[in-house]
Amino acid sequence: MQIKLKFLGAAQNVTGSRHLLQANGTRILVDCGLYQERQFRARNWDTFPIAADSINVVLLTHAHLDHCGFLPKLVREGFKGKIYCNAATAEIAKIILLDAAHIQEEDAEFKRRRHEREARKGPYPEAPLYTTADAEACFPLFHPVRYRQAVTVGDGVEATFYDAGHILGSSIIRAKVRQGGQERIILFSGDIGRPDRPIVCDPTVFDRADYVLIESTYGDRVHKDTQDIKKLIGNVINSTKKAGGNIIVPSFALERAQEVLYYINELLLENTIPCLMVFLDSPMAAKVTEVFQHHPELFDEQMTEFVKQHKSPFNLRGLQVVSSTQQSKAINHIKGTVMVIAGSGMCTGGRIKHHLVNNITRPQSTIMFVGYQALGTLGRQIVDGAKKVRILGKKYKVKAKVIRVPGFSAHADRDELLDWLKELESAPRGVFVVHGETESARAFGNYIRKKTGWEVTVPAYEDEATLD
Ligand SMILES: [Zn+2]
Repeated sequence: MQIKLKFLGAAQNVTGSRHLLQANGTRILVDCGLYQERQFRARNWDTFPIAADSINVVLLTHAHLDHCGFLPKLVREGFKGKIYCNAATAEIAKIILLDAAHIQEEDAEFKRRRHEREARKGPYPEAPLYTTADAEACFPLFHPVRYRQAVTVGDGVEATFYDAGHILGSSIIRAKVRQGGQERIILFSGDIGRPDRPIVCDPTVFDRADYVLIESTYGDRVHKDTQDIKKLIGNVINSTKKAGGNIIVPSFALERAQEVLYYINELLLENTIPCLMVFLDSPMAAKVTEVFQHHPELFDEQMTEFVKQHKSPFNLRGLQVVSSTQQSKAINHIKGTVMVIAGSGMCTGGRIKHHLVNNITRPQSTIMFVGYQALGTLGRQIVDGAKKVRILGKKYKVKAKVIRVPGFSAHADRDELLDWLKELESAPRGVFVVHGETESARAFGNYIRKKTGWEVTVPAYEDEATLD
């Protein structure tokens, strides 16, 4: 067998997922993510390490930016092949890419004006990484596929998508390569969800694979879900209302925002929180919420039941969807407690930065983190307890309450990842641990070896493996 795998991202780091599978003369890129950690962002500006026009096809596991956000640049560099993914992923990815392009255009302009004012230059060009037109150029290449429907992506190479239970439309990709009468199955885990989460189904398990690429975001820890998420959010709302501050929620527009709304709706129905104004200050989150309404076939039983009883969980009392920047700025003039859900989820860009500027120095306000904060992001600095942070070019003291709601994770923890692997009935020929910070990936690699005795590798950036 002559199958090659090259690790072009999410190799001992969390973002920039890009894995190149080469077999039977076909080059398949599994995920095409953007780097978000500060120390790796220069790679976004570099030309793709493999000539973009030599890649035949892209397979997307899901629509998070760190898995699809580099597509516009890949297309601009010459990629012309098909992009296969689940139908909901295709719809959401288009929204995400347009938003990313828009944020980059805005940030570039803001940076240009700031640098001009301060008479200095930053490390990257004062131009957007890609534009709205670049993002739109990807759209005709999207080819939605249904879960469990095999597609031929090259000579003797087939790909099938299965529900990963991570976000709506998320997939585990099973690639099957045939060569000279032999066959190999390679599983790309993408991001694996957790059992029993709201809205989406549980991750699909597999009984056979020759090679597995497995994520390890939480490969070195076990989620302690002693705290009830809904109760914790209820407490934050009640205590912040008492203090007279605002609740600022940096959130991914995708899944997390819908989950937060789902819980707030339940709290309101249970009458455990007062009715308050909730601003979904993210046109993208509003659009993504619409995609959820298009795909009830992807909901789990609990959500299907909720929809039957209460119609949509996304139409709660007090909810205001904010579209214009003027409306967004006007939120700051409202007296009394409001909740603002805005992006980006790790505070690396977008409207959340302005809301942080207005609330981070107020001890009455609470910044409620509901998502993973990658190393090197502003969100991570705040969560790690920084006393001062730099936002939009100015330093601010962190005086607001900082709360992490841990149980929200859309990623399986160490034990759940191992449980997923152990569904395999026999040892795979190799396991590659990806999509985790070095310590986490290595710890998980050791844990798998210890528990199973399997062959495990923790690849580094640009490592190459030959699969026999
Ligand atoms: Zn993800």
